Amino acid sequence: MSDAAHGSTTPRSAGDAPKPKKRRRWPYVVGLPLAALAVGFGTLYLTAFAGWMPFGAGRALPEGVEMVADGYVAEFMVDAGPGAVALIDCGNDPEAKVLLAALAKRGLGKDAVKAIFLTHGHPDHTAGCRQFAAAEVMAFEAEVPIIEGKRRAASPGAALVGVKPDKAAKVTRTLKDGETVTVGATRVRAFLTPGHTVGSASFVAKDTVFLGDNALANADGTMRGAPALFTDDAIENRRSLKALAKRLADENITVKALAFGHTGALAGLGPLAAY
Ligand SMILES: [Zn+2]
Repeated sequence: MSDAAHGSTTPRSAGDAPKPKKRRRWPYVVGLPLAALAVGFGTLYLTAFAGWMPFGAGRALPEGVEMVADGYVAEFMVDAGPGAVALIDCGNDPEAKVLLAALAKRGLGKDAVKAIFLTHGHPDHTAGCRQFAAAEVMAFEAEVPIIEGKRRAASPGAALVGVKPDKAAKVTRTLKDGETVTVGATRVRAFLTPGHTVGSASFVAKDTVFLGDNALANADGTMRGAPALFTDDAIENRRSLKALAKRLADENITVKALAFGHTGALAGLGPLAAY
């Protein structure tokens, strides 16, 4: 510290006289609203994900379905006959390390992935797709620009994250609502369930409903809709989930498990039907 700061009486020349301190206002003008925004989004984020079912605490999935958890996001490997699998989403890692390790554990390489079904275009669900050049990449048409990094989704969370071309994927086949796609020995049914994003999908394969981010499992075994901060239209999301529950029940589709992109799984159609 300088002598001046200690109030020293040492004589000094006029040039040393302390300048009157000007309080800088701009750090407060800029910083306070930013801090408020950060706290606001932090609170919203915690509210959105509080009380959810952790991956490890979820119910076991039916035979032929493997959850591959990679940090805070899960993708799913669905058996499609000898040496072949289909993926539901492909994760947040452009190198898809965890997926490649899961394949290697089965003695399989990248080319074993014959098809990828994308629940939606948020980058934490699409980044790994580029590793699987042999796979058909499928999604609903409305979602394609988001998946391909040409447009961002409309939610506040997506605005914060922005478009991430380095995590984009190329869609090679668009789906029709209700369509069944056969991959090797496995049939995958596609349902259009917009709301979380404009072209969000849910898929049914091996008696499992893959809901992506259209819904989350609560730790108490109930289900909730998509997290609001990252959702384009919460009302449409709710409507889509209710319509999906009715379609699955009306068509007598066997449902042994509900699988989610960010939480553990639930058993049976019950939690979706009760939502
Ligand atoms: Zn999402």
